[in-house]
This record gives sequence, structure tokens and C-alpha cells, in this order.
Amino acid sequence: MDVVSAVREAGVIGAGGAGFPTYVKLNAKADYILLNGAECEPLLRVDQQLLGLFSTDILEGFYAAGKHIGAEKALIGIKKKHAALIEKLRADIQDMGYGDYIRVVPLKDVYPAGDEQVLVYELTGRIVPEASIPIQVGCVVVNAETTLNISHALKGKPVTKTYLTLGGDIPHRMTLCVPVGTPVREVLALSGVSNLDDYAVIDGGPMMGSLMKNIDGAVTKRNKAFILLQKEHPLIRRKAVSFETARIVNKAACEQCRMCTDLCPRYLLGHSIEPHKIMRSYNYGLSGSTPQTVSQLCSGCNLCQMFSCPAGLYPKLMNDHNKAQLAVLKIKYQPTGVPPSVRAIREFRQIPSQRLIARLGLSDFDQPAPFRLEEWKSDRRTILTSQHIGAPAVPTVKVGDLVVSGQRIGEIPEGSIGAAIHASCNGEVVDVRQDAIVIEVRK
Ligand code: SF4
Ligand code: SF4
Repeated sequence: MDVVSAVREAGVIGAGGAGFPTYVKLNAKADYILLNGAECEPLLRVDQQLLGLFSTDILEGFYAAGKHIGAEKALIGIKKKHAALIEKLRADIQDMGYGDYIRVVPLKDVYPAGDEQVLVYELTGRIVPEASIPIQVGCVVVNAETTLNISHALKGKPVTKTYLTLGGDIPHRMTLCVPVGTPVREVLALSGVSNLDDYAVIDGGPMMGSLMKNIDGAVTKRNKAFILLQKEHPLIRRKAVSFETARIVNKAACEQCRMCTDLCPRYLLGHSIEPHKIMRSYNYGLSGSTPQTVSQLCSGCNLCQMFSCPAGLYPKLMNDHNKAQLAVLKIKYQPTGVPPSVRAIREFRQIPSQRLIARLGLSDFDQPAPFRLEEWKSDRRTILTSQHIGAPAVPTVKVGDLVVSGQRIGEIPEGSIGAAIHASCNGEVVDVRQDAIVIEVRK
């Protein structure tokens, strides 16, 4: 079976959080394949540990994917602070005979080093055009866990688990391998927090992750971290702010200093996004009936809102609002057509991770989260049909069916982009809904 078919069969999706089906990404020809090992979100410890624990598998998957797309160069981006890991990977690359092909490139410890477009620039010097994706400049980017899953797919093993960091203001920080469909509460219980009602949970990293509205759900292939912080923590209060409150505060306090623009990573790459102008258009009623399409160039990195703005305002939220409205209106930003060129000041305007962590009030929680093997005890697994970008999977099992771990239980609908889903345990199917398949675990 070729790489694309194997990856499609195995239900591999972008494990960095985006959830884009990987077989679509690999169904291309490119000059470069890039492994995103930057893991720039504060407190996350997944990729750096996977790259150490499963380096051979990851390198195998990376090599196979790179050769498949015809890439001439395969580059791994990892922050230079992980010196021992870089050394290990370089040794493994040589031992495996990939030395002429795969190269490790150390990255600065800045945020957002893992933004796909920032990574493409840092590793290749190419700039992804506005409103475009890396393949436009001959690059395919995969993350460390995705590459591990590619390697497993080539050995016939589908995606039935995800790796995530349990972190934040908790007694027990750890990184776990969790079967897809495990109750989120079972994972959170390992944190050592006795009264979860006093805590908020961020699904993902502190910068780009969102507050979980409901912790009674199930773990998906996309989960990368659960960060627990007390509800009164300033980061939680800022994440919980409503659009209406943000709009009023923005209008009252934006001084048009343009710090949000001057530090915006996409602006610094030469794109036209200028969040201070989005603020101006809202605050002075200049947006008219159509929101500014330039908001679609925002990556959602949250730097403007969580770090740059001296007044603690919410420019990213205005971009989010614009993007949502534009999606409903089906209006798209029209690129200028002028190739972007990096702004000369960029080198001096990158945000050191430690400064960001301090600003977020997370320094006390920036601790190791060592990998821990856990025996999962819940008697049910709820496998969502939509854990990815694209059409939900169509169930191929019915109530009463006995399934084994790794068995396919949902297919990509005919003619659609999507991802297959698989049982993450042996058991009996006890519910089949449009949104999920529930399996009662049998040992
Ligand atoms: S940094 Fe804050 S105050 Fe300055 S222009 Fe941007 S939103 Fe307004
Ligand atoms: S969230 Fe803010 S800083 Fe990040 S890309 Fe969007 S506008 Fe720029």
C-alpha cells in the first residue's frame, strides 16, 4: 500500500491541533518536508518527549513521507534549548542512514516558533503568500505526533490514541498516552485536583487553546493538552471575556499605539494584517456592513491580545468576530498579489518564551511533565465521528457488534475529505449516533 493510502486508511490527521487529514497533505509534490517540533505553546511537553522516546519511528515516518512527496530536503525544526534531544536525533539520523536527507535545524526559543508559516520561513527562507498555505511555496509541514502516526500507519496500525500534557496549577503534571474516546474527566482526575469546580480547563495550549465548556466529553485525536488553572487566574478571566464586553473595553481604551501590529508575527512576515486598524474600524464605526476581510490573515496566535497590547485589550477577538461573520457571508480576502517581504525589524521583535510565560502568569507552572504510562479504567469509549477538518465519518458498525482495538468503525463519506475512525479498545458497540459511536470496554 502506498503512503497516502496507508495514512488514509489509518485515519491520520494533523495532531498539532489543526486536525487536517494528513493523506490530503501528502497527496502533493513539494521541495521540502518540514517536521514541526517547535512546540511553542507554554507548558506543553508532548512533541519534545515523543521525539526522544520514539525517534526511530518518527524518523522512519518522516523519511517515507518526504520521499513520497518528492521532497529534496527534509528538515526538523526544534528549539535549540533542547540540546540533548537535538544531539540524539542527529545521531539517530546518521545511524539510520538518513544523513544525506534529514537535517535538524535549531530554532530560537520564541513564540510562535511553531506557527506553520513562521516555521516555513525560519527553515527555508520562503514566505507563504497571504491567505495561502505552505504547499504554495513547495513545503509540506507535519508535526511530531503526526509523523509518529504516519510511521504506525505504514505498519498497518491506525490512530487509536493521542498524546497530551496535563499541566497548569496542579499537583501532578504529566504527559500521557490516552486512548481516543476516554472520558475527559478520567484524564483530569489524574491531576491531583480534588475540587474541579474551582478550576477552568484549557483545551490545548494557554495561548491558542480555548476554555472547555464541558468536561464531560471524550478525548479526541486532536487533543494535545489539558491545562488546568484556577477560575480567578487572570489568563482564565481574559479567555472568558465575552465579545460584547471586549468591544466596549476596546472602544474605551484603545490608544492606537499599534503595538499589536508591530509585534504581530504575520505582519512581521510581510502580510497585510494590521490589528490596530481592525480596532480602529470597530471603535470608530468604519467597518460598515462588511467586516474587514484582512482579518482572515490572522493566525489566531493571540500574541496581540495576551502580550503585546499595553492596555490589555482584545484585538484577536475582533479578528475572530470578523472571520466568523465573513464565513457566514462567504466573503474571502483578496490577496494583493504582491509577494510579501519580511519586515526588516522582525529579528528584533520576536517574543522570548520566558517573557511570554511570565506575562501570562504561568512561571510557577512551567515545570516538567514527564511521560507516564497509565492504565485506563473507564468502561466506555466514546469515539466522535468528527475529530478532524472535513466531513464526519460514517459509522460502519451497529449496536451489538463486537469490535477489536484498531478495527475501523467509521469511513470517510464517498467523495468527501475526512478521516476514518477506529475502535480504541476491544468491546461491544452500545450506541451508534451521527456524532459518536460508544463502545463498552471488554478486556
Ligand atoms: S496594542 Fe492595544 S492599545 Fe495599542 S493599538 Fe493595539 S489594541 Fe489599541
Ligand atoms: S492573533 Fe494578533 S498577533 Fe496573532 S496573527 Fe492575529 S492579529 Fe497577529
